[in-house]
Amino acid sequence: MDIAGIKRLTYMVNTAILIMVFGLMGFFMVAKAGFLVYFSIPTALVYILGYILISREKLFGYVVMVYVWLTIYMSICTVCLGYDYGFHLYGMSMIPIIFYTEYMAYKLNKKTIRGIRLSIFIVGCYLVSTLSPSIFGPIYAPNMAIARVFWVVNSIIVFSFLIFYTRVLIKATINSEETLKDMALKDNLTKLYNRHYMMTKLEEVEDGLQNIYVSMVDIDKFKNINDVYGHNAGDMVLKKIAGIMENVCDKSIISRWGGEEFLLLSRALSGERLTDKKMFEYMETLRKAVEAADFTYEDQQIRVTVTIGVAVRQNGTKVEKWVDDADEKLYIGKNSGRNRVEM
Ligand code: GH3
Ligand code: MG
Ligand code: MG
Repeated sequence: MDIAGIKRLTYMVNTAILIMVFGLMGFFMVAKAGFLVYFSIPTALVYILGYILISREKLFGYVVMVYVWLTIYMSICTVCLGYDYGFHLYGMSMIPIIFYTEYMAYKLNKKTIRGIRLSIFIVGCYLVSTLSPSIFGPIYAPNMAIARVFWVVNSIIVFSFLIFYTRVLIKATINSEETLKDMALKDNLTKLYNRHYMMTKLEEVEDGLQNIYVSMVDIDKFKNINDVYGHNAGDMVLKKIAGIMENVCDKSIISRWGGEEFLLLSRALSGERLTDKKMFEYMETLRKAVEAADFTYEDQQIRVTVTIGVAVRQNGTKVEKWVDDADEKLYIGKNSGRNRVEM
């Protein structure tokens, strides 16, 4: 979530709390709980001030002010009316919100919030405000029928906050992990898997499995493309070839092995086992697709071809030897005029 998203969410939550405060104020008037009516006035003002803090993006000051005040407000409601109304439950919903804010502060490089300190403050308020009516009795006698309605409504609100913010936190964690995984396993330019990932996939191929192939795909005279059209044109070619490979070879694992070299691992085509002939035709399709593709950079047509060396997996050989076999075939292809498949 970006800063605009966070602001929108905070406006929504602030409005919800403000409406709730006005609703409670009305109820306290009807219930003749005079002190709580008066205490609701500064509470409403705190939330109105909250809008100003949000609009100035002082989100962390906002969170501290608003949630500390809400904790105090709910604690005073509990001291006055007892815990049959469920006002003391609000403290629990604030804990994930506070830690979520701490997380956002970290992400946005803002002043950090001490989640633990605020949580201890909330637990303290919770204990004092619930023990007080249990020892001394509530200040205003509760109306049990109304208290039951409040209990249900307050419980639902508190659980909704808990569920919503815990889910937001988990989603944020999953998103970060996905991003990290992508960064660790994928190449930044082409978004293909990197050499490290491909190595682990190659190591995983068990002995005894047959008709498994690696193909080393190397762009022909790529240095020339960089020299004539510039490095950015070269990058565009790399990205475009990656896209072609993803389209044509969607049954294979595709990696960027090095600069302008790609390594493909192919086990089967649409459920059918591969043979040398099928594998050759499959790589011919890729070679022709690259040859036929349109590589235009700043209105200049660039001719791009690839040479492909293919090697089948031999039982008992090391991964390095398998890849070297494909490299040797590639070398033969380069020496035989390029733009060809060699196996
Ligand atoms: P051959 O047909 O024999 O493969 O010739 P080649 O020019 O393709 O091979 P060579 O190994 O001489 O040159 C590879 C070039 O690839 C050199 C390097 O600058 C370029 N290169 C490597 N990585 C990148 C990259 O990420 N972007 C761009 N634009 N160029 C890259
Ligand atoms: Mg090359
Ligand atoms: Mg090369």
